[in-house]
Amino acid sequence: MHVETLGDGKPAYTIVACVHGDETCGWHAFNRLKASGIAVREPVKFVLANERAFKLGFRFCDADLNRVMPGDESSEKHEERLAARLQRELRGTTVLDFHSTESRGCPYAIVTGEDDASLRLARSTGLDRVVDMSLYGGGVTQDVTGVAVECGYYDDEDAATMAHRILLHFLGAEDIIDHDHARSTPTLYEVFGEAEGRGYTFLAENFQQVEAGEVFATKNGVDRRADHDFYPVLMSTHGYTDRIGFKARRVGPVETLLST
Ligand SMILES: [Zn+2]
Repeated sequence: MHVETLGDGKPAYTIVACVHGDETCGWHAFNRLKASGIAVREPVKFVLANERAFKLGFRFCDADLNRVMPGDESSEKHEERLAARLQRELRGTTVLDFHSTESRGCPYAIVTGEDDASLRLARSTGLDRVVDMSLYGGGVTQDVTGVAVECGYYDDEDAATMAHRILLHFLGAEDIIDHDHARSTPTLYEVFGEAEGRGYTFLAENFQQVEAGEVFATKNGVDRRADHDFYPVLMSTHGYTDRIGFKARRVGPVETLLST
């Protein structure tokens, strides 16, 4: 794990990159920010989480870091030990966690909970969609106030450019840097289940409603039909080994949910 702070003092914010070692967009975004020499109004911490996997070009070494929080200091598994260190590093700060994905429909934000603080952070990303994944829990933001962002399909140049844009917007909206921003009014999608199965070709579109009876995936010439309406989220042909992805309901604009 590599930790670097811009500005002086104790940071209230942590920006996290490479929880998955092969998702480097957040790290590129940080380096672009640093190279620009931009002034910060208050200190902000940057964490290259899974540095070992990053250097190897792997998603992870022994276990998925995003699934093993809060970790175990004495584990034999690299990511379980790392999770415990990362947990300490994040404690007491507000977190923005960068990812890229093998599913289409990016960019969007992910929260674990529909509390005001999480939804306000989703607005600070400037993105139009936010997914509540709290049903499946986990993730490095589960025990802190935070938001994750999926910046792009595959970890390419476009994902890095999007990550940089989101980073500037977020830091501007949170009043850490001087940057033009307009808090977005994202639509909230709430994950309520998953579409299980392996080896399927995903045929529908993420964030576009699939209606009961509609074919949304296929395998060896056999169609998979929806048994109820849902919005596909993080669904893909190759993204997961044992599921096509997640099913969500569309809740509506987050403004209607904020208490003030
Ligand atoms: Zn990821």
